Amino acid sequence: MSGQLDIIGLTADEVEAEARRSVASGAGLAKTLYKDAVLRARFEPEAHGLSARSAEAWRARFRLVLPAVVRTVGEESLMGDDTVKAVLAFQDGLEVECVRIPMGQGRYTLCVSSQVGCKMGCGFCETAKMGFIRNLSAAEIVAQLVVARAVLGWEIRNIVFMGMGEPLDNPEGVLQALRVMHDRFGLSYGQPRLTICTSGRVDGLKRLAELGFKRMDLSISLNAAFDHKRDVLMPVNRKYPLAELQQALIEHPRREKFIYAINYCLLPGFNDAPEDARAVAEFVAPLGRAVVNVIPYNPGTQPLTRAPTEDEVVGFLDQLREHGVLVQRRVTKGRSVMAACGQLGNLELRRHRSLPVAP
Ligand code: SF4
Repeated sequence: MSGQLDIIGLTADEVEAEARRSVASGAGLAKTLYKDAVLRARFEPEAHGLSARSAEAWRARFRLVLPAVVRTVGEESLMGDDTVKAVLAFQDGLEVECVRIPMGQGRYTLCVSSQVGCKMGCGFCETAKMGFIRNLSAAEIVAQLVVARAVLGWEIRNIVFMGMGEPLDNPEGVLQALRVMHDRFGLSYGQPRLTICTSGRVDGLKRLAELGFKRMDLSISLNAAFDHKRDVLMPVNRKYPLAELQQALIEHPRREKFIYAINYCLLPGFNDAPEDARAVAEFVAPLGRAVVNVIPYNPGTQPLTRAPTEDEVVGFLDQLREHGVLVQRRVTKGRSVMAACGQLGNLELRRHRSLPVAP
């Protein structure tokens, strides 16, 4: 036995099994201590009637480390709900952001980060400008949810992996975080309340399939349906071109009535022509049920182009509808706090580029 394990990076069964191996007495309290950690952000073995020696043994094997809340920044909506971005600092000083997004009727989605920075290099994305610094561990991903609920007091109904980083570029951390979030002895988020959003890592989709979460939602950042355009906007396309991505989505195991969410960031003059709409329709047609979320481009600190006008957004939605595509216009929440889609990774965070890069 060596080192401490992060208790919130494990499922309750994993904690119990490890406690039976390495803690002389009090292993029967494993699920109680686990619930305290993931639901109440507390790890106090001595508070449960354990002897000092047993409590010490628990602390020697397990730890609860939560990131510090550096600041929260909110944007009030007309509905009175806030989109709030929280900047969290880990022990090594690196920061990530998570965002609470109002979904109406007092429900909130938490958008979590899976990496510090990102190596995918998408042209419209603020995080891409940071470069890649390191993967987050499962515990660090789960910690964002624990802090949001137990420290910030946010009521989180859904979780989307759409913050900083490409989740399927960090399958070890993300798959284990999903198991922990889903664990019925702890956070207990049902599969339909979890969404992975990927830029199109076909290798990662195959790893995700191994998890067997057929009822979990999957969201794909498409943004261009011609290879020559997607190659420019999303370099991942040079490794996994559209036909390969499309085939992987066709083969991906999923529940009956599953609906793919296909995200399309509308960049005026780049991907909003009639032939683009037709190509999007051709991409989604073989996928079964799919909804295309059209997201008006948010100009960030180094804009690729301007934001589309209302007429341009409506016009593109109409063209997709004419091709028989199910569409949805995504409201751009959090634009003023740089918490909208593709805007996580602010200027202060980018300073961390000068820190050593993980292998
Ligand atoms: S959009 Fe997502 S995958 Fe692309 S660079 Fe940004 S964080 Fe990475």
